[in-house]
Amino acid sequence: MENREVYSIIVPLYNEEVVIEESYRRIKAVMESTKEGYEIIFVNDGSRDKTRYIAENLCLEDKTIKLINFSRNFGHQAAITAGMNEALGDAVVVIDADLQDPPEVILEMIKKWKQGYDVVYGKRTKREGEKFLKKFTAKVFYRILKNMTSVDIPVDTGDFRLIDRKVCDALNSLPEKNRYVRGLVSWVGYKQTFVEFTRQGRFAGETKYPFKKMIKLALDGITSFSYKPITMIGSFGGFIFFIGIISTLGVLIKNISSKTAVLSLGLIMAVNFIMFGLIFISIGIMGEYIGRISDEAKERPMYIIESKISYENKMNLYNTEKNEVS
Ligand code: UDP
Ligand code: MG
Repeated sequence: MENREVYSIIVPLYNEEVVIEESYRRIKAVMESTKEGYEIIFVNDGSRDKTRYIAENLCLEDKTIKLINFSRNFGHQAAITAGMNEALGDAVVVIDADLQDPPEVILEMIKKWKQGYDVVYGKRTKREGEKFLKKFTAKVFYRILKNMTSVDIPVDTGDFRLIDRKVCDALNSLPEKNRYVRGLVSWVGYKQTFVEFTRQGRFAGETKYPFKKMIKLALDGITSFSYKPITMIGSFGGFIFFIGIISTLGVLIKNISSKTAVLSLGLIMAVNFIMFGLIFISIGIMGEYIGRISDEAKERPMYIIESKISYENKMNLYNTEKNEVS
């Protein structure tokens, strides 16, 4: 086995005392089979059970393990981010601790990486052992997000994926805090592909994603990649304004043709439509500004350069080609 870390496996842990040892055993077996260097990075996200104790013991026994302990529960996305900042590998894999993402799939990811892909994400074809509501909300959410954003975030994928060192560096350079990591991975670009797998039921224990955390993740996903919700208010306003104008004209025409100039309920309603329409349009316009402000506040770079070819090194390329020919 090489001494250098070729792979970094990041495992976020929040109250996972019942799964951590089995999870470690399976990941270890898979990584040993590669015959290459690796490190396993446990990120203990403020667990209140024995997770920390067990992880520390594993750390003492096995020098390929690194452990990061958070001072409290900062959340799954923060844990993954900390792992990425710590990772030394040429390829970095993020995997859940509960064995819902089978560690054996890492080998398929590695194969794709060696074929030259920079991001290999795990696509869930089936989800086993999860409640209907969880599967349904996840399905709906991924599709809503897809429709709202201009970044092509693949549906039905979680954070189980392999990324190349350069993608990890690009992600580490992003300063934003309310991270939706799987969206950012799509956003950075590079050569991406996927491997399909069946998402298993949890090996043991309960989900650490109660409804509140799921909503927070969904909102982070939407607000990080779209300001459609706020600009839609403007379109809604435009629609109401249009109805207001039509109905006002209707009432006026009716009044003129019947030669009665009464202040009817219909007219008041119609004018109300116009006013509400204008208010919503104004909010929508503010939304356009707020959307742009939020884009700026994220401080993402405007672009990421994969490689640069200048006149000089083009000449070098040309010369080597010529040398090879002659
Ligand atoms: N997790 C975490 N911090 C949290 C919640 C979850 O580090 O606040 C970890 C958890 O230990 C697991 C992974 O994130 O390794 C995914 O969580 P879980 O399996 O509970 O989510 P689900 O699969 O139910 O969506
Ligand atoms: Mg899980």
